[in-house]
Amino acid sequence: MNYNFFADAKETFNAAAFVIYGVPFDNTSSFRVGSRWAPDVMRKVSYNFESYISDFDVDLADVPVHDMGNCDTCVDVDGTLEEVYQASKQIVDAGKIPIMMGGEHSLSYPCVKSLAEKKGKIGMVVMDAHCDLRTEYRGVKNNHACVSRHVIDDGLVDDGYVTIGIRSGPREEWEYIRENKDIRAYTSEHVFEKGIIAVLGDADRYLKDCNTIYLSLDMDAIDPSYAPGLGTPEPFGMTPREVRAVIRHFAPRVAAFDLIEITPEYDAGEVTSVIGAKLIRDFIAAKWKSMGH
Ligand code: MN
Ligand code: MN
Repeated sequence: MNYNFFADAKETFNAAAFVIYGVPFDNTSSFRVGSRWAPDVMRKVSYNFESYISDFDVDLADVPVHDMGNCDTCVDVDGTLEEVYQASKQIVDAGKIPIMMGGEHSLSYPCVKSLAEKKGKIGMVVMDAHCDLRTEYRGVKNNHACVSRHVIDDGLVDDGYVTIGIRSGPREEWEYIRENKDIRAYTSEHVFEKGIIAVLGDADRYLKDCNTIYLSLDMDAIDPSYAPGLGTPEPFGMTPREVRAVIRHFAPRVAAFDLIEITPEYDAGEVTSVIGAKLIRDFIAAKWKSMGH
């Protein structure tokens, strides 16, 4: 079997509605490195699944998906972000839906930027254990722990910023959330107590005027007992089903998606990559269905 591309991603770039690409970069990761290996592992395990997704009556074999392969990377984060920006911009400008497989979370910034430039006004939904609201970390502005702060401060997500599943961050980040009325943050504890349906209803009221959403899934939003292959595992997280509910709920408005922060070397049974690959396939099916197919 040839695992060089994601399962069922057999369309050409020009004819595709969805374009998958990987970014093998993890140089600012603070605890466990290795998310650079995740794109290729997700490609491999994607062949585990049936192409037909019964919940949507969609067969992925009929959906035009292209896999561009892996983006070039540099040793330094800023050079890599420029490469990712060019890749994302090419996809977005062609009117296609990019799906970026990380790699670490810093890689989301250029993807958000290219979408905001194309659409004018966008909102962002992030699932993450961490706030990622530092202005800099370990002397690096574009550290993976800072991505959300930069997209907010740079005005890229003026139509709303929602984060779901957070449970870890220094006091300053929590104070920033409390003081910043323009963002909505739902802790994993809140999801547990109120239920994901209620959380999504509340988020919808906040995002009611937002037509275009950038969706970012830091896999450590999921509890490490389900998803152990993570760079910064944080207990008491969301279930894979809750995360899938968020993806399905917002899919009609999502114009770009990324799935980042899986570390295959810590992933016994490749279970985290299996969940990641499945969620990418589920997003494609949900989005395709919402486009009237
Ligand atoms: Mn993150
Ligand atoms: Mn995280």
